Amino acid sequence: MNVFARCQQLPGGTQTPLTFFAFFFLLLGLCVGSFLNVVAWRVPAGRSIVRPGSACPSCGNPIRWYDNVPVLSFLLLGARCRQCRSPISPLYPAVELATGLLFLGAALRAGPGLQAAADAVLASLMVLTVRTDLENWLVLDEASLGGLAAGLAFALAPGGLSVLQSAGAAAGGFVLFLLIRLASLAVLKAKPGYVLPPPGHEDEADEFTGGMGWGDVKLAACIGAFLGPGRTAVAFFVAFVTGAAAGIAMILSGRHEKRRPMPFGPFLALGALVSMFAGNALLSLYLSASWP
Ligand SMILES: [Zn+2]
Repeated sequence: MNVFARCQQLPGGTQTPLTFFAFFFLLLGLCVGSFLNVVAWRVPAGRSIVRPGSACPSCGNPIRWYDNVPVLSFLLLGARCRQCRSPISPLYPAVELATGLLFLGAALRAGPGLQAAADAVLASLMVLTVRTDLENWLVLDEASLGGLAAGLAFALAPGGLSVLQSAGAAAGGFVLFLLIRLASLAVLKAKPGYVLPPPGHEDEADEFTGGMGWGDVKLAACIGAFLGPGRTAVAFFVAFVTGAAAGIAMILSGRHEKRRPMPFGPFLALGALVSMFAGNALLSLYLSASWP
C-alpha cells in the first residue's frame, strides 16, 4: 500500500493529496527563496550564481549546508555567522519565508497542476524584483524578459490562458507603460534636473528622467503574459493605487526627499501578487457593482 492510499483512509482523506502537494510547495518555496537571495545579491554585481558556494560577507568563511537551511538556520544561529558572529540580515529569512508562503498559497489556490507551477514562477519573479529594485533600482532582465518568455510558454499548455490572451496582455502592458514613460519624459525633459537620480546612480541620470524606467516597461509585459487581460488590469490598478498611497505617506511623514524618484517595481510586483490570488474576485466584484 502506498503512502497516499494509506492516508486516504484517514478522516478527511480526500484532502490528503492537496495537503501533501501544499506542504511540498511550501518547502520548495523556502528553497527557491534561498536561491532568490543568491540571485539578488550576485547578478547585479555581475557574479556567477553557481560558483563559488555561499560565504559569509563579513569573514568570507564558506557557509556549511546545515547553516544554510532556509529560515531555520537563521533562527538556530541567532541571526549571527557561526564563525565571526557578525549579524545576518533578516532580509534573507524574510525573502525565504515570503516565497515559501506564496508557493503555499499558489498550491492551495490552484491545486496540483501546471497553474500552481505558473503561479509559483510568477511569485518568485516578483519577490526577486522587490528585492533588486529596492536595493539596486534594478529590475533584472532575467526576471522581466525571462518571465515574459515563461508566461507565454505556460500559455502554450492546455488549460489556463490562451496564447492570444497572454500575448495580448503582455503587449498591452508593454505599450501602456511605454506611453507613460514617453509622456513623463516629454514633460520632465522641459525641466532639466527636475528629477535627481538616486545616490550612487548619478551616471544613469537618463534612466531616472522619465517617471517610469525601462525595467518597469518590461516588467509590465511579463505580468501581462502571466495574468491575461482582466487580471493584468487589476494588477496595474493595485500598483498605481498603492504606489500613490506610499508616495503620499512618504511626503506626509517627511521621509521623501524632494525630486528623488521612487522605485515602481515593488508596487507592480505587489499588484501582480494581489491579482494572482484575488484578481478574478476583484474583477467580478467590480463588474457586478451597480455604478450610478
Ligand atoms: Zn562570518
